[in-house]
Amino acid sequence: MYIIDRYEENNNKKYIIQLQDGYFIEVALFEHRNAIHFCIPSQVGCCVGCRHCSTTYAQVPYVRNLSSRELNNIVELLITQLWNKNIPKVLSFSGHGEPMMNWENIQKCARDNINRFLNIYLTSIGIVCTMHEILLGLDFYPNIYFSLHASCDNERAELIPLAGNEQIANLQQIIEFGKYYTQMGGQVIWNYMICNVNSSDESFQRLLGLCRKVEYSLDIRFTKYIDIRKNNKIKEIDSAVSKAFCQKISDQVSSNIHVRFSTLEGEEMGIACGQMRAFLQDKK
Ligand code: SF4
Repeated sequence: MYIIDRYEENNNKKYIIQLQDGYFIEVALFEHRNAIHFCIPSQVGCCVGCRHCSTTYAQVPYVRNLSSRELNNIVELLITQLWNKNIPKVLSFSGHGEPMMNWENIQKCARDNINRFLNIYLTSIGIVCTMHEILLGLDFYPNIYFSLHASCDNERAELIPLAGNEQIANLQQIIEFGKYYTQMGGQVIWNYMICNVNSSDESFQRLLGLCRKVEYSLDIRFTKYIDIRKNNKIKEIDSAVSKAFCQKISDQVSSNIHVRFSTLEGEEMGIACGQMRAFLQDKK
């Protein structure tokens, strides 16, 4: 595998890597809170089809899982690109792809590299069978960012069409999982990308209702949807409205829930969402 294209802006760096079979993946390195995050994909493309994601609209949206060997090789390749070797590193399976659908290889890569990284993260919509496997026993506890993005399952399916499928965890199952995972020492975060679909007063009340069911320590990370200019039935909303939604939740949840509104690292270049891979395919 080798790097065929790159985009760099301050300490946010994106690379397109060509794999041995000729397919492309997109990876990123970025500095955040005094650590360098290795944002790596779990699949070549992604089969989830979220409406807000560039990967869904790429000419070749999904091909296959990445092998553990490929994942390890990506880590090695990114290490050669580091601009500061001494700063702590975070391994984040948060690029394109659904890590819980490639769990065996993700686990292997995480275990092989555990001593090199301060922390391991993954972002998932929640795959029921993998969540069961995780609760049955792990020797590492990645921080799990659930792509919630909604206040009820119907609303979620508007953004993540696969969310109606029974293999995908519903919101109640995600809440339950958090209870057991935090008891095991893990940390759960809900990602909530605010857009026109999930920001009404009804959504606010429902989200508050979900929060009231959570008795463990939970982080909620709000971001603002950035319009990727596709006909995807989702609209960006005003920044002040997004922040007000986040602030209202923050004001009304109990102290075990920590709310933050994140500005995405490398927002201007759309870090970690597969834009560069999709763009390159469109050009070819
Ligand atoms: S947001 Fe993530 S899970 Fe959804 S389609 Fe994109 S890469 Fe896949």
